[in-house]
Amino acid sequence: MSRPDNDAPALRIDTSRPHPARMYDWFLGGKDNYPVDEALGRQMISVEPGVPVMAKVNRAFMHRATRWLTDQGIRQFLDIGTGIPTEPNLHQVAQQAAPATRVVYCDNDPIVLAHAGALLKGTEEGAIDYVQADARDVDAILRHAGKTLDFSRPVALSLIALLHFVSDEDGAYELVDRLTEVLAPGSHVVISHLTADFHPAAARKVDEMYKANTLTLAPRTRAQFARFFDGLDVVEPGIVAAEAWHPELGEPVPGQDDVISAGYVAVGRKP
Ligand code: SAH
Repeated sequence: MSRPDNDAPALRIDTSRPHPARMYDWFLGGKDNYPVDEALGRQMISVEPGVPVMAKVNRAFMHRATRWLTDQGIRQFLDIGTGIPTEPNLHQVAQQAAPATRVVYCDNDPIVLAHAGALLKGTEEGAIDYVQADARDVDAILRHAGKTLDFSRPVALSLIALLHFVSDEDGAYELVDRLTEVLAPGSHVVISHLTADFHPAAARKVDEMYKANTLTLAPRTRAQFARFFDGLDVVEPGIVAAEAWHPELGEPVPGQDDVISAGYVAVGRKP
C-alpha cells in the first residue's frame, strides 16, 4: 500500500462537509458515513427518489463488466475512484473467476484509505495494492501501480462513477488520455458516468445542491462521454444506460425498471 509523496491528498477525515465516497456508501445502505453525508443524500432523494437504486445499478454494472473482462482473459485491473469497499468489490468478482488476477485500487478520500485493509484481502495467487492518490496525479498512480501490474500486458482501467467528479478544467480528459496512453494493446477502459440527458430537471437541482456544499459535479452528455473513448474501439453494446450493458451477465437490481437511468456506461478496447 502506498501514498505518493508529492501532492498528497488529505489524510484526515473531514466530517464538516459531505464527501462523495461517504454519500455513495449511505445510498448503498453502508455504515461508513456521517450526518453531513446523510443530510445531502436525503436532499437528493427528495428530488430524485431513485438515487439508491441508481447507485446499486452502477455497482451491478461494475460486477458485470468485471466478469466480462475476466472472460476476455484480462487478469490485471487498475481501479481509480474505488470508493468504500462494498461486497463484492471488484477484486472479489475478478478473483472469483480468475484467482490469479492482480488489482490496484486508488482513491483520494481518506475514508477509503481507512478501509484499505478490507480492499487488500484477496487470493494467494493474485495480488492487490492500494494507492492513495488523486486521479489526476497520473505519474504517482502509474509509479505505484507498476509495482503490481505489468503494463506491457493488457490491463483494464476501471473508472466507475469517478469522472463526473472531475470537471473539464480540472483535467478529466487529460487524465484518461494519459492513463490510456501507457496501456498495452488489448487493454480495456471501463467508464460509468452521470448524465443529465435522461432527466435534466432533477440533474439541475442535484447540481445546485452539490454546489451549495462546495462539491463539483460534472454530468456529461452522450457526446462528451463518448470523447473519453477516442482512439478506442467501444465494444458491444456500445454506449448505453448502465442497466442495458450485457444484462445477461448478472441479476437485475430490484426496482431498476421504475427509475430513470442516470448514467452512461461503455467499455473500450485499445487496438
Ligand atoms: N467506483 C466506486 C465508487 C464510486 S464513488 C463505485 O462505483 O462503486 C466515487 C469515488 O471517486 C469516491 O470514492 C471518491 O472519493 C472518488 N474520487 C472522486 N474524485 C476523485 C479524484 N479526483 N481522485 C481520486 N478519487 C476520486
